[in-house]
Amino acid sequence: MPTRTNLTAPALLCADIGGSHMRLAWIDNDLNVIERRQISTPSHDLDRFVESFAELVRESHRPVKAAHLSLAGLQDPVTARCIAANIPCIKDVSLAPLMSRELGLPVRIANDADCFTLAEARTGAAKGHDNVFGIILGTGVGGGLVQQGNLVVGRQGLTGEWGHGPFLRRGDRDYPYLPCGCGQSGCLDTIGGARGLEKLHLWLCGEACSSRDIINGWLSKKSPYHATVTRYIDLLSDALAIVINITGASCVPAGGGLSAVEQLITALDQAVREKCLYNTDTPIIVRAKLGDDAGLIGASYL
Ligand SMILES: [Zn+2]
Repeated sequence: MPTRTNLTAPALLCADIGGSHMRLAWIDNDLNVIERRQISTPSHDLDRFVESFAELVRESHRPVKAAHLSLAGLQDPVTARCIAANIPCIKDVSLAPLMSRELGLPVRIANDADCFTLAEARTGAAKGHDNVFGIILGTGVGGGLVQQGNLVVGRQGLTGEWGHGPFLRRGDRDYPYLPCGCGQSGCLDTIGGARGLEKLHLWLCGEACSSRDIINGWLSKKSPYHATVTRYIDLLSDALAIVINITGASCVPAGGGLSAVEQLITALDQAVREKCLYNTDTPIIVRAKLGDDAGLIGASYL
C-alpha cells in the first residue's frame, strides 16, 4: 500500500555538494524525496556558501530534523576539518559544527564516494553483500568501503582512495608519468577517469580527443582506440585486483560517467576476475543502480 507523506513530520535534509552545484533533497521517514532544490556552489566564499545553503532551508518552510551532507571532499573524523579541491572556501574549516550552528540542526558530513558506496551497498547494486568497495570512474577516480552495511572511515577521512599513491613508474613507455592533484606523480587517478583516459590516448597515439570519442572508437573496434582502452582496462584491473585481494570485497559497484558504458564495465570485470585471488563466475565489478541520487541516498544513511 503506498505510504502517504506526512508533511508536518520533520524531514531529513540531504545534500550532495560538489564543486559546481549543491543539490538538496528533503526526505521523509519512508525515504521518499518530498522536495528538491539546486543552486551553484559558492566555492570561493565561505559566508556565501553557508548562507546560500541556510537560505534554501529557510525558503522551504519545511520542518527539518537534521542535515546530512555528501561532500566532494574529505572531513577529518577527529577535527571535523574539511578539504575539497574544487571548493577552496571550506579548506581547513570545521564545516559540520559551523553549519550546525547556522542551521540550528545536527549536521553530518561524509565524502561523496563514501556516500555513493553506502547507498549502493544498502539499496543498490551491491545489496546483500557484506563487504563492498564502491568505485567512481568520473572525471577522476574515487572509492569507498562499506562493511556489514557500515561505512569504514579511515584516518583524516581517507578510505578507498585507490586512485592515489605511486602506481605508475617514471620512464615506462606504456603510459605517461604525470603529476597528480594530490601532490604525487604516477597516481592511477592521472589516467583512471575520463580526463585520464584522454591523457593516456594522447600519450599512446599522439591524438587529442574526448573520452566519449575514445570509447565510441573502442566499441567500433577501431585500432588506436582499441589499443588505448585495452591498456586502460589493463591498468585499472591491476589496481582493482589488489584492492579486492586486500579488502575481500565481493561486489564492486561502479559509478561515474564512464560506468554508463556497459561494455567497459563488463570488460573491466572480466580482467579483474582473471587477476584477483577470489575465484567466481559471478561478476564482481557491476554498474551502480542508483544513478545521480546515490550521494543523496547514501547521505540519508549517515
Ligand atoms: Zn594522487
